Amino acid sequence: MFKIHKFYLFIFIGIITMIFSCTDSKNKETTESNTQTNEQKYNWTDCQNCGMPTNDFPNWQVMLKTNSKNLAFCAPRCMFIHLADSSNNIATSIEKIDVTDYYTTQKINGETAFYVTGSNKTSLMGKDFIPFSTKEDAQNFKQEHNGKKIYSFEQIDTGVVISELK
Ligand SMILES: [Zn+2]
Repeated sequence: MFKIHKFYLFIFIGIITMIFSCTDSKNKETTESNTQTNEQKYNWTDCQNCGMPTNDFPNWQVMLKTNSKNLAFCAPRCMFIHLADSSNNIATSIEKIDVTDYYTTQKINGETAFYVTGSNKTSLMGKDFIPFSTKEDAQNFKQEHNGKKIYSFEQIDTGVVISELK
């Protein structure tokens, strides 16, 4: 009597272990196949106008702060095109603009900078408003590189943007 019971007990244990090992391997499969996502990440440092990663081009980068957000542009050109678009109201809410001085590659005040156009130098975007912290630097650059005009920030309106960048 006892021997038979022992025999059944062994079979019973065998079945139980089989069931458990099966469910175990199934669980493993589902966790391993669990999701690879191809989600694209948008950084605030990507250019607001063209989408380029501005940190890759520090010598042209523009950082603009409004009363509600921070915006990045890959070059002055992209900023001025964006500002010329009155539908986004950016031009009226500017708190601070940092542009990159062409000679020193330091960040300077974009609202007091001098911008040279029409020269034989282009930015990564093509024709551009090339920034300098002093009028003297802008004049030197204009002479050396066949520049056409020097603008202050306020002078660069929609008409100027269109005529200089076309
Ligand atoms: Zn851009």
